[in-house]
Amino acid sequence: MNVTICIKLNQPILFTFATYMKVTEYLAQAKKPIISLEVLPPPKGKSIESIYKTLDPLMEFKPSFVNVTYHRAEQVYKKRKDGTFESVEIRKRPGTVGICAAIMGKYKVEAIPHLICGGFSKEETENALIDLNFLGVQNVLALRGDAASNEKFFVPHPKGHKYAEDLVGQIIELNKGKYIEDDIINGTNTDFCIGVAGYPEKHFEAPNLDVDLYYLKRKIDLGADYITTQMFFNNKHFYDFSEKCKQQGINAPIIPGLKPLYNHNQLSVVPRIFNTEIPTDLFKEMQNAKTPEACEKVGEDWLYEQCKDLLNNNVPVLHFYTLGKPHVVYNVLKRLF
Ligand code: FAD
Repeated sequence: MNVTICIKLNQPILFTFATYMKVTEYLAQAKKPIISLEVLPPPKGKSIESIYKTLDPLMEFKPSFVNVTYHRAEQVYKKRKDGTFESVEIRKRPGTVGICAAIMGKYKVEAIPHLICGGFSKEETENALIDLNFLGVQNVLALRGDAASNEKFFVPHPKGHKYAEDLVGQIIELNKGKYIEDDIINGTNTDFCIGVAGYPEKHFEAPNLDVDLYYLKRKIDLGADYITTQMFFNNKHFYDFSEKCKQQGINAPIIPGLKPLYNHNQLSVVPRIFNTEIPTDLFKEMQNAKTPEACEKVGEDWLYEQCKDLLNNNVPVLHFYTLGKPHVVYNVLKRLF
């Protein structure tokens, strides 16, 4: 929210600053649908301009929040001068915290950093939370993260967290002023609003949706404030998921995650990576599209219909994974609002 104050002294002075709010406060106060966006830090070595290029046009739709993803370090093999290889750890997309600060400064919107357990000790996480608190970041999305690229299953950092619920627990403790070192007495408390991930078609590791919802409920019962979902292309999954959440006593707001498809490749890649169904009609329409432009139009039209249906069903917020094709999201928003 932007607040402008004019003070009349000898000359008029104009201050414009932003007051930042929690996601839950935005949702509670919203009088019309809220737009939320998600961006990816640029690859190391590239400038932040790609983020601005994505966001500049989308600001026309006054998004309330912009999520910034987090990418864990990866083990890669680098060739030494003698021809042998060494394994080195590289973070290919650093900069999440800095990008959040830049977005809040430039656009005066809420930036929501994603925090992951993978690769981090509890102390590193605590230090990151302290940085975010000092920057005025009020919202975080607490995630476990996926397995490292050289591992088959998720392996927690030896001094870190195994599940997102443990990370939620740490943030809750910090919100009470409890730091890892017990000799910090009367520690300043943070006040983070905590989002967690939910999976309308279940998380790929979960044996079934009910078990996944059981663990989702634990995150909410611990104190997480809202849920952002994995992408889905069939709204029925979202409605069923929302209903099942209610039945299980999960009453936190649920933000639907939406992404446009825009090429043939995604028809097999997206279900494999994100465990999401591609409806047959979408699959057929995409396969019949013969040019890149035609593929984008199929994705745009599908996303537009999904959004229209969600809004007609009184879903108060739409979260767009803008990754890759922000202009498709732009076209959808232009048609919707
Ligand atoms: P958890 O909630 O820990 O769940 C992981 C699995 O373990 C599930 O199958 C769950 O059912 C099970 N489980 C949970 N708790 C327990 C328990 N106590 N005991 C036994 N089983 C349990 N990844 C990134 O690396 N960076 C990002 O920026 C990022 N952003 C995302 C944003 C959204 C909106 C979503 C939906 C996902 C995002 N991801 C991101 C992917 C996410 O990290 C992966 O899906 C990851 O595999 C699971 O994360 P989680 O927070 O859902 O984990």
